Amino acid sequence: MPEIIFIILILVIAAILYTALKKKTPLTQPDFQTEKQILGEQVLFYKRLTAEEKLRFEESLQLFLQKVRITGVKTIVEDMDRVFIAAAAIIPIFAFKGWEYRNIHEVLLYPDSFDKDYHIEGHGRDTLGMVGNGPMQNVMILSQHDLRNGFLNHTDKSNTAIHEFVHLVDKTDGDTDGVPEALLPHKYSMPWLKRIHEEIQQIKSGKSDINPYAATSEAEFLAVVAEYFFEQPHLMKQKHPGLFELLEQIFTPPAAQ
Ligand SMILES: [Zn+2]
Repeated sequence: MPEIIFIILILVIAAILYTALKKKTPLTQPDFQTEKQILGEQVLFYKRLTAEEKLRFEESLQLFLQKVRITGVKTIVEDMDRVFIAAAAIIPIFAFKGWEYRNIHEVLLYPDSFDKDYHIEGHGRDTLGMVGNGPMQNVMILSQHDLRNGFLNHTDKSNTAIHEFVHLVDKTDGDTDGVPEALLPHKYSMPWLKRIHEEIQQIKSGKSDINPYAATSEAEFLAVVAEYFFEQPHLMKQKHPGLFELLEQIFTPPAAQ
């Protein structure tokens, strides 16, 4: 009789362990050729790089995927999703060699917008992607549909995943306030804030081609114009030269300017 109890106990422990292990998605990476192919075909930022920069981009991408787990919620994570998420993480800080994200360890991928599944305040842009707070600290949530759309559509000025990673970079100094102190030397923060408020006025008066969601707050302004800056830099330079120049200052380390 005691043997049976012992066997049952072992089986119960095995079942618990199995369930616990199954929940953890392994850190998988696309193979190198697949990764290069997806980058070369779909990631405009990567396409514009020199051969040497492309290599550095690929290395940064692999490092990111070694550290950050990507988990599908009611959806399957494909190689394309992994490459897009890592590319969106690398793009905003690519000029800052050796930059490492310390405030993210997991990305949850939902099939579509998740305002119904995950109760968050407000509507609009951030129901397509968000950076978690409280118990969700260090976790980013993205909509798979919008993640893919951000990269597969080569003519628009939006990219949800880049938007969310810019919030994360902004948050590095403790505040998601539109002034990314980790990137922008202090002396530039006042001119930058002044510029934000001028541009928000333009948006509110209907005289701008910047997504009106940028007028929500300073933090949203930074994230939205960064999408435009990284997706269509030539168009932004032509339509908003002053803003373009300030964004170049933000996203380029002082030594490289
Ligand atoms: Zn946002």
